[in-house]
Amino acid sequence: MTCIFCHIPKDRIILSNDRAVAIFDRYPVNPGHMLIIPKRHFDDFFDASDEEIQSITELVRLCRELLDKTYHPDGYNIGVNCGRVAGQTVMHMHVHLIPRYTGDVEDPKGGVRGVIPEKRIY
Ligand code: AMP
Ligand code: ZN
Repeated sequence: MTCIFCHIPKDRIILSNDRAVAIFDRYPVNPGHMLIIPKRHFDDFFDASDEEIQSITELVRLCRELLDKTYHPDGYNIGVNCGRVAGQTVMHMHVHLIPRYTGDVEDPKGGVRGVIPEKRIY
């Protein structure tokens, strides 16, 4: 099966550097939801090279600057689903950068802890 993140149309790429690209998520959980994706195909975050992590981190920061200016969020969640059991559906590694807005959920306490919904609030 063809990998969608190996074939991103050029006009969908918002930012890029030597080893990674950033796009807007097609099914955003919030306005401005972005994905930072290495150019090399591999599925697992833990297989990224130091250089790829550096390039991805650089784009996370640049995307944050872009989103701050254009979407004015009040916070962010940054997350990677590592493996199908952790919720990964596109098996080409990517980092989610999710802008958060005051009031976007009733009680945001716990944030990414919500991957196990009944344990989100401690
Ligand atoms: P994950 O479940 O962590 O593998 O995340 C995959 C993400 O890719 C989801 O947030 C989807 O909304 C997003 N997505 C799926 N297809 C596309 C696409 N063609 N372009 C951009 N984002 C996509
Ligand atoms: Zn791929």
